[in-house]
Amino acid sequence: MPDENAPDTDSLAAASGLPRLVLKPREERRLQAGHLWIFSNEVDVQATPLTACTPGEVASVFSSKDRFLGYASVNPHTLIAARLLSRVPSERPGRGLFVRRLEAAKALRERFYHRPFYRLAFGESDLLPGLVVDRYGDTCVVQLGTAGMEAMKDGILTALGKVVGPRAVLWKNDSPLRELEGLPLYVEAALGDIPDSVEVEEGGVRFAVPLAAGQKTGWFFDQALNRSAIARHCAGARVLDVFSYAGGFGLQAARAGASEVTCVDASAGALAAVEASAAANGLAVSTVRGDAFEVLEAFARERRRFDVVIVDPPAFIKRRKDHGKGLAAYKRLNQLALQLVDRDGILMSCSCSSHLAEGELIEAVQRAVRHVDRFVQLVWAGGQAPDHPVHPAIPETRYLKALMFRVLHA
Ligand code: SAH
Repeated sequence: MPDENAPDTDSLAAASGLPRLVLKPREERRLQAGHLWIFSNEVDVQATPLTACTPGEVASVFSSKDRFLGYASVNPHTLIAARLLSRVPSERPGRGLFVRRLEAAKALRERFYHRPFYRLAFGESDLLPGLVVDRYGDTCVVQLGTAGMEAMKDGILTALGKVVGPRAVLWKNDSPLRELEGLPLYVEAALGDIPDSVEVEEGGVRFAVPLAAGQKTGWFFDQALNRSAIARHCAGARVLDVFSYAGGFGLQAARAGASEVTCVDASAGALAAVEASAAANGLAVSTVRGDAFEVLEAFARERRRFDVVIVDPPAFIKRRKDHGKGLAAYKRLNQLALQLVDRDGILMSCSCSSHLAEGELIEAVQRAVRHVDRFVQLVWAGGQAPDHPVHPAIPETRYLKALMFRVLHA
């Protein structure tokens, strides 16, 4: 038996030169279970004050018994004070680590995708906490979500060059979550000429996806399997795609033979993309711009009915403290949607809030059902596509729900 209390001298040597973070007694357990996060209250700040680190700096992390736990990027100003980048003493974070991680990430995607259009790196799930990369052929869109990743952006760009050799790379660093990290919001070219839009083919439809002007990193690759699952039920159907963005669901429904498709979104840019893609693919859709709740209410007043309704809202629960309010919004949205589903139709109800469990969404739909005198059956439950893998020790990485209900009138 190795002596648990003996200092790990090899690791200490490897980690020398970096600031140290020592955890309080027993606070290493989450890391040992596979998680990558260290919360600020878990750090022994008497021994190793977090404030001694600058945001984004890499530190070596030790248990209270001086066992080396790994290298982490630190942000002394956030609740998640540090995110583990490696557990291997010889694997000090830098370009080499990014190359290995991105190679591994690419190998996974290549098993599942025939063409280089996918989320190449999905943060924690690819052991790259804070880094998201979407790949559109020769163009990559990168989101740096933490001070740690921001500090390593040069290494990331070089590693990306080695692993995929993109012609153009866009920093799409405009997520409001960056403000919590004390980072500025910006969108700028990191490499090459960034096209205004790129073409993504899914379900036999060629979509024009806006990049710099698009939402998040451009295309929602996570919904790919759910789009094809619902498209199979859309032949001859009247389809309503609520929170349509660029028409991922709606246009594939049209391609699958829907008799009528209506896309609803608050964003004029998103609906312009829907219309452009519809025209380019010879598909007919109509678009309605407005607040989804108001549009659904208006449709209910007009007694409009659809055979298939998809609701794919932005996360209503962004932080745990919004749980109650968010849950009420999911219930209200699903109630409005259910009213519009004609006899023996289908509702696909999605949620991308990691703070909302699948069971809670099912319950929200069931509670809504009771108000509108319907009976539903859950017939299929989808999640995120394999380019958004789940890290089993990090429940937050399993965030997408797409529940397909058959709706009967009571
Ligand atoms: N279903 C899409 C992704 C939806 S992303 C796909 O498959 O690609 C969420 C969308 O909701 C965004 O396009 C955003 O513009 C829109 N949105 C956000 N709040 C809204 C609101 N209150 N009413 C209507 N649309 C809204």
